[in-house]
Amino acid sequence: MKKNCIFFKKSGIMYTWVNMMSAKMIKITSKTEYDKLNEAANLLAKGELVAFPTETVYGLGGNALMEDTVKRIYAAKGRPSDNPLIVHIAEKEDVYPLVKEVTPAAQKILENLWPGPVTFILEKSDLVPDAVTAGGKTVAVRMPEHEIARELIRRSGVPVAAPSANLSGRPSPTKASHVAEDLGEKIACIVDGGSCRVGLESTVIDLTSEPPRILRPGGVTQEMLSALLGEVEGYAPKDEDENAPKSPGMKYKHYAPKAYMMVFDGGNCRNNILKMVEANFGKRIVVLTAGETEDYPCETINCGETAEIYSQNLFDILRQADEQGAEVILAELPFEKGGIATALRNRIYKSAGGNVMLCG
Ligand code: AMP
Ligand code: MG
Repeated sequence: MKKNCIFFKKSGIMYTWVNMMSAKMIKITSKTEYDKLNEAANLLAKGELVAFPTETVYGLGGNALMEDTVKRIYAAKGRPSDNPLIVHIAEKEDVYPLVKEVTPAAQKILENLWPGPVTFILEKSDLVPDAVTAGGKTVAVRMPEHEIARELIRRSGVPVAAPSANLSGRPSPTKASHVAEDLGEKIACIVDGGSCRVGLESTVIDLTSEPPRILRPGGVTQEMLSALLGEVEGYAPKDEDENAPKSPGMKYKHYAPKAYMMVFDGGNCRNNILKMVEANFGKRIVVLTAGETEDYPCETINCGETAEIYSQNLFDILRQADEQGAEVILAELPFEKGGIATALRNRIYKSAGGNVMLCG
């Protein structure tokens, strides 16, 4: 970690030395620059924390085989220790040492959907430290599609445990600048590979259940998974039940901007949004629109006309609204369930902490 400045901090009546560390930024814009990844790969191999881009969101990576490093991932994010991490690999065959058995369903996913934004859960092997799986018997594994992610993992020579590289509870990072904002002082290095293509976290599918069950909707849709595997149980909010969460991460507050946020679910939301704007007169209000729409009498940010574009933009725009000092965020959500919209709806409902108005 680079020590870029040392200064005095007043604590009580004592002045103490504080080391301000900041992450080294490595920007990669083309394959010809991949050798720049060696430094980040070496840091990963020896147990330092390195954030890197994937097609879903930026990950906060650490050597998955080093228990202490894995514990530092939880600490840096402020992530509850009962919320297990996804292990990222560079090659399909790297899954074998991590699990007891690659089941036929897993084989189909790795042949047809990897590399890609889908994570599967299988019984873990003894190689995987308990800290990765939060003490559980299963492990989540993904081979990302993003070339920089795979090249970095390949060069590190180790499997990489990586949750999203945000502080727990904050919107997930889809640009290197988001990572720097949340974790820049806590980690060794950030690899900047530009914006993430999908913008929402991977689909998580539990292959230890019969039929396989989606624990988190994402970039690989239920439709794609059932076409490949036959019957697949769709994502159900009951998985967020605090008393019996199948996917521990889903019970926590997530993706939230600092502002109060409300989602207007359905195509006919304009009048309801206008009423809310009126009710919040005097406050700094930002309306998130789904495309170029009629004017609202307040600031607006266009998230995009399709569910794909809205998904790519959502987390970035929530951070933008916070930066602009928004006190109230009102979001149009005219997309029905199905495809990526299922994941978008899940994330935006959570961002708003369940403040939703159904608008038909
Ligand atoms: P994130 O690290 O932010 O992408 O979140 C990873 C998600 O995968 C969280 O919702 C975790 O609870 C879930 N997850 C990871 N490993 C497992 C596992 N072994 N069993 C069930 N859910 C898991
Ligand atoms: Mg996360």
